[in-house]
Amino acid sequence: MPNRSTQWLRLPPIVCLGLLLTRSVFAQGTPPAPDVKPFPPFKVIGNIYYVGDANESVFLITTRAGHVLLDSGYEETVPIVKAGVEKLGFKMQDIKIMISGHAHSDHVAGHALIKQMTGARVLASELDAVVMESGGARGDYRGPRANPWKPVKVDQIIRDGEKVTLGEVTLTAHLTPGHTRGNTTWTMEANEGRGRLNVAFMPSVGRNEGVHVFNYPNHPTIADDYQKTFRVLKTLPCQVFLGPHGNFFDLEGKYARMQAGAKENPFIDPTGCRQYVERGEAGFLKQLDEERRTRR
Ligand SMILES: [Zn+2]
Repeated sequence: MPNRSTQWLRLPPIVCLGLLLTRSVFAQGTPPAPDVKPFPPFKVIGNIYYVGDANESVFLITTRAGHVLLDSGYEETVPIVKAGVEKLGFKMQDIKIMISGHAHSDHVAGHALIKQMTGARVLASELDAVVMESGGARGDYRGPRANPWKPVKVDQIIRDGEKVTLGEVTLTAHLTPGHTRGNTTWTMEANEGRGRLNVAFMPSVGRNEGVHVFNYPNHPTIADDYQKTFRVLKTLPCQVFLGPHGNFFDLEGKYARMQAGAKENPFIDPTGCRQYVERGEAGFLKQLDEERRTRR
């Protein structure tokens, strides 16, 4: 009986080519798992805790009636979230509500798994819900994703200005489209020593790779969306500045200062918050201007 390698030689060339093509398509269809690194879980301010990985923020907001989780990271982030929640002395089962900033895999791919673990209700904006319920297959203006994730059922649609209350905490949703169609900014108040502070979980305001903001057929109103979003963001009170990726709000540096015993909580950073919005807007306007001149 011939061995496998000599069997290849007996196949007609067209079949061999077919097999090789099938092999390479299959290889392309399984992108590598994201490289997720842990970050120490810690109390940010008041009843807000960081339980994400080193790049993808996940926030636990605790209340007397259970907890809210903002974002879930990748599916690979979930064990880090679970370990963090438990290390801080809380229980995953007490997570009652899951909300999100925007429907990209690095922020919501872990939703299905956490919902399964906790039975939490998932809330999302209408346009991001389509993406989350299809695991990235529908509703993303960049097209269906090459690395789809586990779809999650959205239990409640969040509208612009809607308030979500659990126990003593109320979070307000502000629709800030651009980075995704349903991109959402969340605000709340937190108690810290000297009184109540306005917290803003700022959204991603960057452009996506390969996406034009001028004459972009997949999403013709994208420039208007970004412009509206910058207008909204400039009106939001932001004393405590947080965001979906650690490097957006200097998680590492501020955490280190906190650990070193900083007198004032380093996450109280209204200047950093304002600059984040200004930088985002400047980058957007520059790209829009360049595209206006070069694209028809
Ligand atoms: Zn994103």
